[in-house]
Amino acid sequence: MLHPAFIELHAGLQQQGPGSPASTARAFASVGELPAGARILDMGCGTGRQTLDLARLAPTARIEALDLLPEFVAEVERRVAQDGLSERVRARRMSMVDSSLADPPADLIWSEGAIYNVGLEAGLRAWRRFLAPNGAVALTELSWLSDEPPAEPADFWAKAYPGMGSRETNLAMMQSLGYEVLDCFVLPDEDWLERYYEPLDRRQAELAEKYRDDPSAIEALGEHRQELDLFRRFSSAYGYVFYVLRVDRPA
Ligand code: SAH
Repeated sequence: MLHPAFIELHAGLQQQGPGSPASTARAFASVGELPAGARILDMGCGTGRQTLDLARLAPTARIEALDLLPEFVAEVERRVAQDGLSERVRARRMSMVDSSLADPPADLIWSEGAIYNVGLEAGLRAWRRFLAPNGAVALTELSWLSDEPPAEPADFWAKAYPGMGSRETNLAMMQSLGYEVLDCFVLPDEDWLERYYEPLDRRQAELAEKYRDDPSAIEALGEHRQELDLFRRFSSAYGYVFYVLRVDRPA
C-alpha cells in the first residue's frame, strides 16, 4: 500500500521518475514516421509529463495515457485540458497489460519508468499483442551498465528491484521476443537530478512541514533519499536506458 503522503508528494510533481522532454524527443525521432491519426498508448503515465511531450511531437496522434492511480489520472486530465488537447489525448485508470488494449491495434507504445511494475519481459510479451504489424515501442528501464557492478549498488538493487537486468541481456531478450532495436541510449544524469530528484526534494521539504507530527508520513516522504545518495556515487554502474524497438516478425 502506498502511503497517502507519498501519493500527495508525487501527484504534485511534473514527473515521477527520471526523464526529460529532450530524451523523449530523441527516442521519438528514432521511431520514424507514424501514420496520420496514429494510436499511441502511454503506459504508466504518472502525471503525464511525457504524455504532453508526445502530444506535441505527434500532432495528429490519438493518445491514451494509462495509470493505476486515480490521483495521477486526474492530474493528467487537468493538464491535457489546460493545454487544449482533450480532443485527442485521454487519460484512463487502467493496467498497462489490460487485454482490452489490443483493439484497435496500437502504432506506438510509450512507457517511461513504469514497465518494471509488471516486469520488463512480461510487459513486452503482452504489448506484442497490442501492436499493429509495424508497431513500435519506446520505453525506459533501470539497467546495469557494468558487468560487475560495485557491491553497494548491487546489494541495494537486489532488494529494491531484483528483476533488474543489464543493457546487453535486455537487448538480447527483446530481440528474442521478435523486436528489432532502433535505438538504445542512457538518460543523462540531469534527467535524474534536475528533472526528478531536485523537484522531489523541494516538495518533500514543503510536505515535511505539513506532516511534522506524523512519523509514518515523514518516513514515506523520505523514501527516495537512499536511492538518490546511491545514484550520486554510482551512476556509472547503472542508469535508465531508453530502448526503442519495432516489431520485426509476427507474434
Ligand atoms: N511515466 C511517468 C510515471 C513513472 S512512475 C514518468 O516518467 O514521470 C510509474 C507509474 O506506473 C506510476 O504512476 C504507477 O502508478 C504506474 N503503474 C504501476 N503499475 C501499473 C500498471 N500495472 N498499469 C499502469 N500503470 C501502472
